[in-house]
Order: sequence, then C-alpha cells, then structure tokens
Amino acid sequence: MSAGTVFALASGAGRAAIAVLRISGPDSEAVLTALCGSLPPPRRAVVRALRDAGGELLDRAMVLWIPGPGSYTGEDSAELHLHAGRAVIDAVATTLANVGLQPAEPGEFTRRAFLNGKLDLVSAEAVHDLVAAETDAQRRQALRQLEGALGDLYRDWSDRLRIALARQEALIDFPDEDLPPEVEADLLASVRSLRAEIEGHLDDNQRGERLREGLFFAITGAPNVGKSSLINALTERDVAIVSPTPGTTRDTIETRVVLGDVPVTLVDTAGLRESADPIEAEGVRRARARASSADFVITVIEAGSAFDPAVGGLVVANKIDLCPEQRPYVLPVSALTGAGLSDLRARLSAQAIALTQSSGPPPLTRARHRTALREAARWLADAEDAIEPELRGEAMRLALRALGTITGQVGVEQILDSIFRQFCIGK
Ligand code: GDP
Repeated sequence: MSAGTVFALASGAGRAAIAVLRISGPDSEAVLTALCGSLPPPRRAVVRALRDAGGELLDRAMVLWIPGPGSYTGEDSAELHLHAGRAVIDAVATTLANVGLQPAEPGEFTRRAFLNGKLDLVSAEAVHDLVAAETDAQRRQALRQLEGALGDLYRDWSDRLRIALARQEALIDFPDEDLPPEVEADLLASVRSLRAEIEGHLDDNQRGERLREGLFFAITGAPNVGKSSLINALTERDVAIVSPTPGTTRDTIETRVVLGDVPVTLVDTAGLRESADPIEAEGVRRARARASSADFVITVIEAGSAFDPAVGGLVVANKIDLCPEQRPYVLPVSALTGAGLSDLRARLSAQAIALTQSSGPPPLTRARHRTALREAARWLADAEDAIEPELRGEAMRLALRALGTITGQVGVEQILDSIFRQFCIGK
C-alpha cells in the first residue's frame, strides 16, 4: 500500500438516495479543486457542480473538504455526497481514476488513520466490529472498545510493566550502588499482580469474543421429534433480522436468530448428512465441527418419552399437544400450536446473555489479543522465576513487547495486512 491518494465508496451498494465517496491522500486538494472548479471552505458542507476534465457536468453534490491532520485518516481528505445512481458513481469514480487516484484497499482509510496515529490498533479493530454489529449488545461492546476502554486497559498494563522494567534495569546497571532492597521486592510484586490481572482477564469464558462473533447452539435429537419445526418456529418471529449464513448447503442446516440481543446460529446436527458432493461435504464437515464445539446444546425429545438425564444442556419435550403429561427437568413445548415457545425463547435468551455479557471491565474481544496476552503472561511468569537479573529483565522486555503488539505500539507491520483485510472497502 502506497501513501498515494485513494478513493472508495463508503456507503453500501444497492438502491439508495445518496452515495458517499471518500477521498484521502496528498492529492485530495488538487483533485477536489479540479472537480468543483474551486476549493470549498474546509470542514463545511457545500453544494457544488462536479465536472470532469472536459467540463462535463457529472453531478450536483454536497462536498466536504477536510484538510489533514484533523480528518479521519489524518491526511487531506474529501467526501462527495453524490446522487446514488450507479451511473453517477461510475462517472465520478472514472474521473478520479483518470487523474491518477487509486481505488482504496479494504480497510485502507482506517489503516491510514492507525499509521497516522489517529487511533490505536484496538480501536481500529473496534471500527470493524462497529460496522459489522448486528445487535445492540454488539454495538455497545464495539463502541466501548472504539472509545478506548480496552486500549486504555492494555496501555495501563504496558505502562506499569515499563516502570517495573526500568527498576529492573537499574538493578542490572548499578549492582554495586546500594539500591534500597525494596526495589527488587516492589518490582517483583508488580510483575506478580500484573500477571494475575492479565490471567483474570484471559479467564473470562470468552464472553467478549462470543458476543462479537455470535454464538452456536446445537440442536440434537432423534429424527422426527420436531427439530426443524422448532427452529422454524424460533426463526419466524425473527424474519426481519435473520441473515442466512453465506455459503451453499449450510443455509439449510444453520439458521441465524437473535436471542438476548446476541446473534445465535442454530445448527441442526441431524441435518448433517453425508454427501458425495465435495462442496456440500465440506459444508457438512464445517457445520459438524462447529456443532461439536457448540456454546450450548438443546436436546429435543417427544413429549412423554424418556430421556437420559445426563445429556446436559436444555432438554425440550416437543409435541405436548399430543401428550400433555408433564415430566420434570424438561421444557414442554409444541412447535405446532406454539405452546411453550415463549418460555423456550426466554430460556435460550437467558443462556445467550449469560454466555456473552458481563458488567465490570471491558472484556477481551479478539483471538489476536488473547494470544498476545497469553504470551505476555508466560513471559511474566518466567520473569518471576528468573534468578539472574539479566534474564528477568529480558523476560520482562518480551512481555512488554507482547503487550505492545495489541495496541500497535511495537512491531506490528507484519500483522497489519491480516487485520485490515477483514474490513470493507471504504472504511
Ligand atoms: P425433525 O426430523 O426432528 O427435524 O422433525 P420435523 O421438524 O421435520 O418434524 C417431524 C414431524 O413432526 C413433522 O410431520 C411435523 O409436522 C411434526 N411435528 C413437529 N412438531 C410438532 C408438534 O409440536 N406437534 C405435532 N403434533 N406435530 C409436530
């Protein structure tokens, strides 16, 4: 990625009234001046006629000129709020390409914002999560992270470790100058408490990651007990928010619903049949792997029939319209009449909330952070065990480095591609 001037459609594809085209980079001013005939006043929304190099009118649009460094990317930037017709967008995009602007890569605007110090890596990742948020709980978590709550926590740990490391280095550099004996005891105590905090943060049942990614609930039970009927019944009231999982045959066995403000994929494990078709077989393999690591299992039986009390999860007795007799430890429902379905929904929602939401400090939200924190905790444990001051110092330095990769303070060039590739174009 060069630091040239790039452009991209920041609004979604599809029919809309307005399309927002974003421009960022050193040529923004010249390009905007050429397009509008003169440079609009900074940071003010003005309506301008946009013309190509030959003077042809392309659109009459609202235009924003946002000079750096006070822009999202930190660079000179502009926004064109066009009439959202395909032909309008294409004509303006062609004009921009003709004067040498490049289409932006996915996440390029946010990547530039990070590289220009406008936000740290944890906040940049939160931008992605906020754009992807489907439910309020996801939005709140992403926004809290974007506002810096999680980055501040990690930076605070880095700062404390840096102070302890400075003391350790003083012990190494000046072994003969009688430093007070409590220096070593203090720094060891702070290493220990830091490790305890990091381990407490890691031991969170993956709440934040689960909320960000959504949950998987597996539905098991013998054929014909009514699993598909129950999934349909649970889905129906949700029709407006159901988003089918992209893919091929998985659509038929995985259903997305929102329970307790968490996106939940219901996987009908009995729908996982062997297939000779390689694509379908791969879909089945993945669904089976996901079901085996399901966050929660729902076992469906027919009302009145016996069940193994050791199955765990939630046992749902379907078809109570045929057999109204109630048994202990099972939730009676009827997919046919709708009886008990609101109880089922309430039980599943409570489960979804228990698995994802907590009060207290912001939760860990990403496997990338988890890996780095585990590494930091390991180095801190090494530091506690080290006898030689030099080895302890080295372990602390490596722990600090691992923490720094989370917020992007150190050595992240190699991971930037994998982070920003997940973004959409125009963000
Ligand atoms: P699955 O094989 O477990 O997915 O079961 P299905 O959802 O395909 O249902 C099997 C049969 O039971 C179908 O004929 C359904 O109409 C019927 N069925 C499902 N739920 C109920 C129910 O609550 N009451 C009654 N009477 N029939 C049901």
